[in-house]
Amino acid sequence: MISRKNSESLFETAKTLFPGGVNSPVRAFKSVDGVPLFIEKGDGCRIWDADGNEFIDFCCSWGPLILGHNHPAVRTKIEQNLVNGTSFGAPTKLENELGNLIVQNNPFVEKIRFVSSGTEAVMSGIRLARGYTGRNKIIKFEGCYHGHSDSLLVKAGSGLATFGSSSSAGVPESFSAETIVLPLNDREAVNTAIKNHGDDIACIIIEPIPANNGLLLQEKSYLEFLREVCTENGILLFFDEVISGFRVAFAGAAEYYNIQPDIVTYGKIIGGGLPVGAYGASNEIMAHISPLGDVYQAGTLSGNPVAMAAGIAQLSECLKDGFYENQENKTKKFVDKINAHAKSKSYEFELFSIGSIFWLTFSNAESVRSASEIRAESMQDFKNLYAELLNAGIYLGPSGYEVGFVSAAHNEDVLNQVADTFCNALDAIMA
Ligand SMILES: *Cc1c(COP(=O)(O)O)cnc(C)c1O
Repeated sequence: MISRKNSESLFETAKTLFPGGVNSPVRAFKSVDGVPLFIEKGDGCRIWDADGNEFIDFCCSWGPLILGHNHPAVRTKIEQNLVNGTSFGAPTKLENELGNLIVQNNPFVEKIRFVSSGTEAVMSGIRLARGYTGRNKIIKFEGCYHGHSDSLLVKAGSGLATFGSSSSAGVPESFSAETIVLPLNDREAVNTAIKNHGDDIACIIIEPIPANNGLLLQEKSYLEFLREVCTENGILLFFDEVISGFRVAFAGAAEYYNIQPDIVTYGKIIGGGLPVGAYGASNEIMAHISPLGDVYQAGTLSGNPVAMAAGIAQLSECLKDGFYENQENKTKKFVDKINAHAKSKSYEFELFSIGSIFWLTFSNAESVRSASEIRAESMQDFKNLYAELLNAGIYLGPSGYEVGFVSAAHNEDVLNQVADTFCNALDAIMA
């Protein structure tokens, strides 16, 4: 067992300062054993904790670090700009540079607006959808996470066209009543909701690659179906690409599937590890945003120059030839190797992947497309596997509902070694 003495002591102090000892609940190690590891530094694909333990990191800050930790190009660009000051509340050239980099290489958006987090991006995008259409309701899908703003913190039981009951305390019923929650991969549910409320539905929001409740890969034809029903009914199709943007392709899932959304949101990778989010759409739709239009949205630190610099450096690396092919190929090899082992031993286990995102599930199902297909009991197996992997120096996001990320810094040698360790860990818990 690795020592967590220093992390334990730091966590004790943290608990006196922050609710549950953390500043974001997913960090709390609630569904795996022990205290959260306090991380001291990262370099490439590795991180070190407060007890000096070294890990290969597949959490990668929950997605932003597609180049790995401490990438020289990102670090240098931050350092170069840091000496000029950290914030002005006035425009800077760096915003133009990052904006250009995105718009020039992304055929799906004509204008964007920078904000400081994914939550803020989606919240603002929803307001824009409502302001543009003059409609109130939104459709979201069970298992898709869109940040923690009120109208989006709604889950639902299974069933057809369930009206949202809030899944967080503190969200008034009247807010969540405007959110219709539907199961993924269910066309009938969408048709029924549109039949009942179509005239008042502003947008259908979806993670086109749902990756916040396992990896619930949708069929391309389903996403095309959503595109069609939106167009037919004057509803905006809203792709929340906070994870998938710049991850599966530079222009995200829209490029991967070649589907034009009406509004898109980005976060995570876009800021090179600093807090940046963005929402984008056509010139026509974006003209409704203040100060051009009457949908208000603002931010003191929006377009922060240091964060813009980090984003410019990171996205420039992503634009290099073959970047995404390489990411996808090595991830596929890694996943295939572990799956072949699991199959040879007849384990009920499967790794799913797309691009450089992977998710492990204790099931032999050929696909898992909706939240209700994930067995809650399998989380005990995840917990056991997590302990084995952590002791063997592999760090994943501490929940079986979270996906893992491969970065450019995870080379094939490292991935091969990790695959072997992974297979041994599986053998240990399945024995
Ligand atoms: C992470 C995430 C968000 C929220 O972004 P924050 O930066 O954590 O506020 C929203 N949507 C999706 C799809 C995400 O993965």
